[in-house]
Amino acid sequence: MSDEVVIGLEVHVQITSLRTKLFCGCSSNYRDRPPNTNVCPVCLGLPGVLPVLNEKAIEKAVAVALALNSKISEKIVFVRKHYFYPDLPKNYQISQYDRYGLVPVATGGRVVIDVGGLSKTVRIRRINIEEDTGRIVYPEKTVLGSKYALIDYNRAGVALLEIVTEPDFRSPREARIFLEKLASILEHLDVADTSLEGAMRADANISIGGRARVEIKNIGSPRDLEKALSYEITRQLNIVKSGGTIERETRHWIKERGMTVPSRAKELEGEYRYFPDPDLPPIPISKELIERVASSLPELPDSRAKRIAKEYGIGDYMASVLVLNKRLCDHFEHTARTCGNPKLISSILVNEFLRWLDEADIPLSTGILRLSADRLCKLVQYFEKGIVSIKLLKEYVRLAVLEDKDPDDLVRQGITTIGEEEELERIVTEVFEENPKAVSDALRDPKAINFLVGQVMRKTKGRADPKIVNEIIRKRLVEYGSK
Ligand SMILES: [Zn+2]
Repeated sequence: MSDEVVIGLEVHVQITSLRTKLFCGCSSNYRDRPPNTNVCPVCLGLPGVLPVLNEKAIEKAVAVALALNSKISEKIVFVRKHYFYPDLPKNYQISQYDRYGLVPVATGGRVVIDVGGLSKTVRIRRINIEEDTGRIVYPEKTVLGSKYALIDYNRAGVALLEIVTEPDFRSPREARIFLEKLASILEHLDVADTSLEGAMRADANISIGGRARVEIKNIGSPRDLEKALSYEITRQLNIVKSGGTIERETRHWIKERGMTVPSRAKELEGEYRYFPDPDLPPIPISKELIERVASSLPELPDSRAKRIAKEYGIGDYMASVLVLNKRLCDHFEHTARTCGNPKLISSILVNEFLRWLDEADIPLSTGILRLSADRLCKLVQYFEKGIVSIKLLKEYVRLAVLEDKDPDDLVRQGITTIGEEEELERIVTEVFEENPKAVSDALRDPKAINFLVGQVMRKTKGRADPKIVNEIIRKRLVEYGSK
């Protein structure tokens, strides 16, 4: 049996750009509100109320469908998906379905992702509009540690898009890149601010070598998606190696513990008893609406990548990484326009900034506040004037991102490249006096010069620019040789 990994995704995205929930006038922004204060009889599912569709949600869904090259249905049909769980006040969720003659808002489609320089097409299966559930809050963070659970319906009824892919991913990395690109598309479309907690959640199903399929729920970011899937592959392969069998099951990703755990709730399709919601008659999606949305589609990541690669001369690779995040790309364009040197700025953002964010799990928005356009411009200027070396520049980026340090302060505190030749001349003299043998070696063999350069770099704790050190030493050796 081969160990080919097959992964498919179900992504839930809140349409955070809507002002109100999907079927009532409550605010779509439930975050930081006292529990159960962002509710009304409709989203609490009280008897005798009727849902009224927020039609802006259709426009947003159509925009997403167009961006993902999906086929848009002729009408919106809502269904009831039944299950009993405390976070679901009506005991059914208003959703959409693609069987029994029912249609989701859109079907099919594709997203092309870039995996290590190779293009890969990911097929979209369907796009649904549905409502979000409430939140169950455990006072001790976990189910088992808590004596009771609290329920907060502030989120219940918030508009969601469910985007389902075909099982086209062959590695956790591919799944991550797709989710990043999808998030970027949704941000460019002004559908969702995916940086908000809980705004984008992915469920992943994974099977290895044709064995049973395991579903992982509750994954909150592209980074966690890659980690959860990698964890799951290791877990499953260990079971197989020790002669065990993979069971078809649902598991939950516990971010804090970096592992998946079995879910106790057994959810089976047949038990949902889907049927059309009699409160919500089908609504046609007119050609006019589709044309109107299509004509006002903003610049999307793929075309933006082509534009910035050319406009700033930064190369296709840098551009493709930058557009994976709308805010990052906005930050790049803003900074490059303000202080020039787009090549250096893109390289700092892609090679340094993103690495530190990922390593320390710092949200991009926080990272951008710390490495602001203003600070980034200063760093670029310091580098251009020779005040900091490229090595030190990278160190300052790290300190700005991880510790919120201002480059100006760092320079003032003297954590700087020793740019002044005087200071370096003095250190070179010291090194020459301390290493007479190395000096005579270097006089005979130019390769031996590296030892002397190394000594100077050590004394300056790596803060000197090696090129300048090299020049000074060569000059000095010529002086010595002519004595
Ligand atoms: Zn409400």
